[in-house]
Amino acid sequence: MPLPETFQFSQSNLQDYVDCPRRFQLRYVLMRPWPALVTEPPDEFEQHVQRGADLHRLAHQHALGIDPERLTDSIHDATLARWWQTFLAHPPAGLPQAIRRPEVVLAGPLAGYRLAAKFDLLAAEPGQRLVVVDWKAAQKRPSRASLARRLQTRVYRYLAVEAGAAFYGGLRPQPEQVDMVYWFAEQGGATERFAYDAQQHGAARDYLAGLIAEIAARQEPVWPLTPDQRQCQCCNYRSLCERGVRAAFLEELDDDVEPLEPAIDLEQIAEVEF
Ligand code: SF4
Repeated sequence: MPLPETFQFSQSNLQDYVDCPRRFQLRYVLMRPWPALVTEPPDEFEQHVQRGADLHRLAHQHALGIDPERLTDSIHDATLARWWQTFLAHPPAGLPQAIRRPEVVLAGPLAGYRLAAKFDLLAAEPGQRLVVVDWKAAQKRPSRASLARRLQTRVYRYLAVEAGAAFYGGLRPQPEQVDMVYWFAEQGGATERFAYDAQQHGAARDYLAGLIAEIAARQEPVWPLTPDQRQCQCCNYRSLCERGVRAAFLEELDDDVEPLEPAIDLEQIAEVEF
């Protein structure tokens, strides 16, 4: 079954493809329901996902100017309260002040399809710097090398250049003016910053376009199952693929393995095209 022309690529579905082509096929082409737990214990995983969503909501409301004390009063969970105090006391340092836009979607065409990303926060000083910030609530902080490999790091900076003009005085940001910051709630507000340049931008375009073209060209009835069986531990399809029945414990997962979370509905959020 070919991909519909209207299919929209994102960092998360591209990451699924890189982690396992069969997972991409099951999830986005065949749209198979998810038959198994992502991680053990199920309540803990659900709570973890919910807390992460709550932290993003609080950060969004904060960026919109809602009084932090009112937001603090709305929290009834000790872990979330601790993350929130970390957020208030140790935000990412040195972000541009002129433009702050939470939850913004940037999108544009690539290799005949649409590529889109939702940024947790875009901070810009038009003509000088544009920073993309991502709030992370993971229990374990991924290594810098693992973050550098993630599709998110490539897609976000690529789209910041290609589609960031609306937040940059109408001018396309130069790659050297863009960077990305990951901020870690569970690690006291530590950050990991990724600078960008023209060479990385060219390489990102070639890599992402190649990946999209490869996915679009797939014709086989069963796309390849990943040889990296660590990916299967937190994949909902493992019983279907006969890759085990037990779900991994959240704290057991390696750096390069992220539990699957519900897909973001990019259609529901205001966006900017280029
Ligand atoms: S269980 Fe493993 S092989 Fe099957 S879709 Fe998931 S990651 Fe791929």
